[in-house]
Amino acid sequence: MKPDVLVAGAGVSGLTSGIRLAEAGFQVRIVAAEMPLDTTSAAAGAIWGPAYVDHPEVPRWGDEGLRIFTDLAGDAGAGVRMLTGVEASRVPTSAAPWVHGATAAGPGDLPDGWASGWRFRAPVIDMPVYLQWLLKRYEATGGELIRGRLTRLEDGLADAPVVVNCTGLGARALTGDDTLAASRGQIVVVANPGVEEFFVEMTDDPELAYLLPQGDRLLLGGCTIAGDESPGIDPLMARRIIDRCAAVRPEVRDAEVLGHRVGFRPIRPTVRLERDGSIIHNYGHGGAGITLSWGCATDVVALAREIAQDR
Ligand SMILES: Cc1cc2nc3c(=O)[nH]c(=O)nc-3n(C[C@H](O)[C@H](O)[C@H](O)COP(=O)(O)OP(=O)(O)OC[C@H]3O[C@@H](n4cnc5c(N)ncnc54)[C@H](O)[C@@H]3O)c2cc1C
Repeated sequence: MKPDVLVAGAGVSGLTSGIRLAEAGFQVRIVAAEMPLDTTSAAAGAIWGPAYVDHPEVPRWGDEGLRIFTDLAGDAGAGVRMLTGVEASRVPTSAAPWVHGATAAGPGDLPDGWASGWRFRAPVIDMPVYLQWLLKRYEATGGELIRGRLTRLEDGLADAPVVVNCTGLGARALTGDDTLAASRGQIVVVANPGVEEFFVEMTDDPELAYLLPQGDRLLLGGCTIAGDESPGIDPLMARRIIDRCAAVRPEVRDAEVLGHRVGFRPIRPTVRLERDGSIIHNYGHGGAGITLSWGCATDVVALAREIAQDR
């Protein structure tokens, strides 16, 4: 049977859009070149927050995500934890974090030599676990997921009257959008030596320090290297990440390295969430695709309803 909507992409944007559409009553099929655990979404840290992204609706989309991730922290299988931690800067800054209820970090909260920061609680998401949870929730709606690569979005309209483009960086080839660019991220996964709070550096530098606890594992980051699409692990970058994080929490220096992750943030001047005929674009979420996923999926459903009414 033909679905009502074909979603291209099975990262966090495609799966969340698929869930929202199916739960709104649409028959959904997802077609994806890579399965969820092989996407950039699986490589992400991830902490809720609007990093490397721009769009006037970011606050609304982010607030919806915050509400949902806060609820999901109570669901043992979802891989979401509410953690307390610090966002800090090496230089004095008045920039406040986006989250409500942040308090100025005291000297005891900051590593030696750091100038200022904020303390707050935020959802930290274990992406491989979370993506599997999303997939299960999607499959429970009766939606299907098939492997396949579209060469043109219009080809999808032969399979369904509505196509949703959630292809992340893949949208560059599908749409010819040359404002979309990769920003390479790399993470080191170590056995957690007992770090329970997150730490995120506030900086515009391409290399920075962040530590995200995931139970018995700890993710160390990171970098955001514009235009770099090399997929292999850079061992020198991994070394620098460990050194920077060890300057924040010395106990991570000798932690056992369990693995490495590399991913490519889909950077764009603004998120593209709009309708073009019977195609809905939902890509270009930069370093905030997880943060914005639920809010954007809600808007995808509204656009799909609009297309259905026009037909
Ligand atoms: C190291 C790192 C850390 C990050 N940390 C955070 C964080 O803390 N918080 C946060 O919110 N975000 C974070 N991000 C950003 C976040 O990971 C991305 O914004 C998000 O994963 C993008 O998701 P997506 O589903 O749009 O794209 P992707 O995850 O890239 O998925 C794209 C999907 O489309 C498919 N596809 C592509 N082309 C085609 C085609 N032609 N036909 C069919 N299928 C196709 C792919 O196979 C894949 O299934 C981080 C990213 C990195 C790399």
